Amino acid sequence: MKPRSGETGALAPYAAHSEQSRGRCHAEPEAQGRTAFQRDRDRVIHCSAFRRLEYKTQVFVNHEGDLFRTRLTHSLEVAQIGRAIARQLGANDDLVEAISLAHDLGHTPFGHAGQDALHECMKAYGGFEHNLQSLRVVDELEERYGGFNGLNLSFETREGILKHCSLENARKLGELGERFLRKRQPSLEAQIANLADEIAYNNHDIDDGLRSGLLQLGQLEDVPLFARHANEVRAAFPDIGERRMVNETVRRMINTLIVDLATETERRITSAQPASIDEVREAQPLAAFSPAVRKEADVLKSFLLHNLYRHFRVMRMTTKAKRIVTDLFRAFLDEPRLLPQDHQARVAENKARAIADYVAGMTDRYAMKEHQRLFAIGES
Ligand code: MG
Repeated sequence: MKPRSGETGALAPYAAHSEQSRGRCHAEPEAQGRTAFQRDRDRVIHCSAFRRLEYKTQVFVNHEGDLFRTRLTHSLEVAQIGRAIARQLGANDDLVEAISLAHDLGHTPFGHAGQDALHECMKAYGGFEHNLQSLRVVDELEERYGGFNGLNLSFETREGILKHCSLENARKLGELGERFLRKRQPSLEAQIANLADEIAYNNHDIDDGLRSGLLQLGQLEDVPLFARHANEVRAAFPDIGERRMVNETVRRMINTLIVDLATETERRITSAQPASIDEVREAQPLAAFSPAVRKEADVLKSFLLHNLYRHFRVMRMTTKAKRIVTDLFRAFLDEPRLLPQDHQARVAENKARAIADYVAGMTDRYAMKEHQRLFAIGES
């Protein structure tokens, strides 16, 4: 049966076409009724690392409130934004969705604090990069199939997951690492997913920041991207309540960013005229905001860095989180027999990496529990 995706007709020549995929590491028969990238997306959704995203922090630790974003809802928002942009540009939205849903699978518990702590612990053993870990989850760590480790995803999905990578690690990755060594771009779909990620977190962090009370509306009046949309909302709805005003403003900001990104990217595509995915890879970056909006988005990013991510209440949590991750890593390194049985099996191959894989795979609450079990007398 031919896939009924209708992909070919709807896609631009520079898009990733599933029938021209560079393929999977382990040969498998085509799926019936699904394209390769739709199948990749389905495999991601069914994997255990994807379910664990529900209990991993974006900014706020999972137990801090039910309304904040988690890595799971963040990934869904990235997929939604990415698909919307891809469709406007004739790019392959199934591939954008697969990349978006998988892009954070390698994140440690406690967001960036956890990743920094684990990188510090792993310095003498090759370091820890969350992008590379996302790839490791889909290439190695998931145990779902009889014939191979990992999810055996298509090259293009794996290319999109590996957003950054050190040159040292790129050299070990063969075909997938080449673009970092040759300073080439990934597919347009990967570029779109990357910027959809930025649109998602900047906007939801404003929303969560205000909801948590760590940010005040007044502070955001100095952030042009927020202020101009907030003024629009107040003019249209003079009596609007604060929560609804924030929601209206954030939704308009997301829309502005999506429209700007699609418009600027289309302009670049028209000027570069890439005729295939390989010409996209050879070209200058195609997915981009216009210079004016890029500037506004940077002001917003720096506002969030100084006022939210470095807020003393967030810093207290991240400092605790770093301590938990570091304590866990050291305890297992000193005594690998503390590891659960199935993880002990991997210790023989590479002790530090096996421990990093175990710690990185933990959810926030599992890491806190495991810390209690190892360090609190009376727990087991
Ligand atoms: Mg992300």
